[in-house]
Amino acid sequence: MSAAPARAGADRPPLFEVRDLRVVFPGPAGGLEAVSGVDLAVDRGEVLAVVGESGSGKSVTMLAAMGLTGPGVTVTGSVRLDGEEYLGRPEALRRLRGKRMAMIFQDPMTALNPVMTVGAQITEMIRIHDRQVSQRQAMKKAVDLLALVAVPFPERRAAQYPHEFSGGMRQRAMIAMAMANDPEVLIADEPTTALDVTIQAQIIELLDGLRRERGLALVLITHDLGIVAGLADRVAILYAGRVVERAPVREAYYRPAHPYTASLLKALPSLEGDRGRLVPIDGSPPGLASRPPGCSFHPRCPIAVPRCMVERPALIAVGDHAAACHLADLSARTPLPMPAAGGAR
Ligand code: SF4
Repeated sequence: MSAAPARAGADRPPLFEVRDLRVVFPGPAGGLEAVSGVDLAVDRGEVLAVVGESGSGKSVTMLAAMGLTGPGVTVTGSVRLDGEEYLGRPEALRRLRGKRMAMIFQDPMTALNPVMTVGAQITEMIRIHDRQVSQRQAMKKAVDLLALVAVPFPERRAAQYPHEFSGGMRQRAMIAMAMANDPEVLIADEPTTALDVTIQAQIIELLDGLRRERGLALVLITHDLGIVAGLADRVAILYAGRVVERAPVREAYYRPAHPYTASLLKALPSLEGDRGRLVPIDGSPPGLASRPPGCSFHPRCPIAVPRCMVERPALIAVGDHAAACHLADLSARTPLPMPAAGGAR
């Protein structure tokens, strides 16, 4: 059993909790395990960042938790909202999606319907979950939501199609649609990746404002630790379908307990002189069908020892962290400066 996710208010169940989640895609020899026993938890008003390179399993984890995996994919474990179990209850999950839990994606063009106006799409989202709301009331709320996410001239914009919006405005429109039914949990999957840095900063500020003002529990999926520094309270680092480190964000930045976290941080730009040179991580993450035995990170790990090649490390508590590394104590002793992209709250 791995170390449970640490969080404030641990005497009551978290608002949203994923426990021992496993996701297996159809494949040879019983299938290919994309997610191997992931535990995550987030509370109201809190931001949990789920970080990892492409293929780490971060998006698959959250899609599975939302019941959005395709046919033939096996999902086991536990997904709870306010203590109530939803995994294995597709109908209940369907009612939850877009209502109490919502998700936004990296590319709004794939989520927005190109042949419906933005206002009509938000209106539809409102009325799917509440038929008592009239078309006129829903459209008024759609305009209010566009104003909430700082879309200028929201009434006029509501009558436009997605292709008439810029990339940043489309992302705002998608956030407005996700907020249509006042969700308690918002999952944002790489919400700023396709945007330039100025618009990225605006979207992050918008999400942070929604978290503060509406008490949203926000799960931010990203590969960018720079974004995490300015927004998240806690971070979970995923590698090859497992959580390899979990910690309050400052702890993860200043004293990473896992060599993979340390490597991600070294690959970030810094304003501090002694870290002017970026250090890319050698190699690439293993594919689903070629995960190495022992610690999956061992082919890329600068401090691997023979034990790492045969024995998979469990996720254990190391001070305020949980880390899956045989040498976690050793790794945790080297403080690192914060990255340039923001300061932890
Ligand atoms: Fe590196 Fe070994 Fe720790 Fe894996 S268990 S991260 S290979 S030191």
